[in-house]
Amino acid sequence: MRVPFVDLKGQYALLQPELEEAFKNIFLQGQFVGGGEVHSFEEKFATKLGVRHCVGVGNGTDALFLSLKALGIGPGDEVITPAWSWISSAETISQTGATPIFTDVDEFYTISVDDVEKKLTNKTRAVIAVHLYGQPADVTRLTQLCKLNQLFLIEDCAQAHFSKMGSVCAGTFGDVAAFSFYPTKNLGAYGDAGAVVTHHAHLAEKVRRLANHGGLSKDEHLMEGFNSRLDPLQAAALSVKLNYVMTWNDRRNEHASFYHDHLSGIGDLIVPQVRPQTTHSFHLYVVRTSRRDLLKQFLSEQGIETQVHYPRALPFEPAYQGLTLRSEHFPNASKFQQEVLSLPVYPELTEAQLGYVCDQIKKFFQHGD
Ligand SMILES: *Cc1c(COP(=O)(O)O)cnc(C)c1O
Repeated sequence: MRVPFVDLKGQYALLQPELEEAFKNIFLQGQFVGGGEVHSFEEKFATKLGVRHCVGVGNGTDALFLSLKALGIGPGDEVITPAWSWISSAETISQTGATPIFTDVDEFYTISVDDVEKKLTNKTRAVIAVHLYGQPADVTRLTQLCKLNQLFLIEDCAQAHFSKMGSVCAGTFGDVAAFSFYPTKNLGAYGDAGAVVTHHAHLAEKVRRLANHGGLSKDEHLMEGFNSRLDPLQAAALSVKLNYVMTWNDRRNEHASFYHDHLSGIGDLIVPQVRPQTTHSFHLYVVRTSRRDLLKQFLSEQGIETQVHYPRALPFEPAYQGLTLRSEHFPNASKFQQEVLSLPVYPELTEAQLGYVCDQIKKFFQHGD
């Protein structure tokens, strides 16, 4: 049996008639930047999340960068961000001229609030909470801490579309939140795409201007800006998929339960724990074992694709070697980089495939190789 890590072709087969109709309309209208299709998606996405404003942008990295810029973050400022994440949540801080300050993460793979408290200085302006793998960070403590210290809270929701704390969606807790619609994300476009969401009209307008050469129309430049826009073809695809994303998240959660039931207590395998009162969206289903590389190799030989998110904690990437940070500064992130393995968890997986993955993992640990 073959179990790929993702199956975007399978998803396309399901959506093909709807998508082709939506794309055809865009081609017939002849508008390929901005316009009604983009606004319509922005409104639907904001409403579904429970936030006032959404601004479509070019990708999730730009969504983070433009959020930081809109908050006025720049040279001389420090922004606290987790050591265990995709590099966007650190590199965009540097791109504004500010300094990324790395913290360790907790047992849920999200930013350690205890460590955030230790890293506060009089230069700290903001904290980036990454809801990694689809698991909401401890937003209850983070919102309190940011309020108390007059810091901005930025949510990186690139892996957390419609993850929830209580009944409230991730992306509605901070001053501003960044979403990615990279093709393999829980809500994915057919190319790069992203969005910034916020309750604050002035921030939404600032992001919209920054993303569009400083203006809301072609001949207006209140400041210098950038070119980072969600295009109508991507917006149309996202509008179609928005009707399915909740069902897909439910499927991911069912798969996660299946894994949990069949993989708990096998060898030294550690299965993901869900933070109380949250709804995980299982963008990734990440297990840990001290024999990660051997397990990955074994599963690959059995036709099962897995990935490692991530092979190196950010402070140990060559990009940050100048910071000379050491593993004892980030005990969890340092351990995770050697142990994590992401199993396939996309919605279209069949029960037979899930069963096969679990059987092969059991076999690996029984044989002890
Ligand atoms: C995917 C991702 C991003 C970046 O999104 P792009 O659309 O690829 O630029 C940022 N943060 C995290 C945690 C991500 O997983």
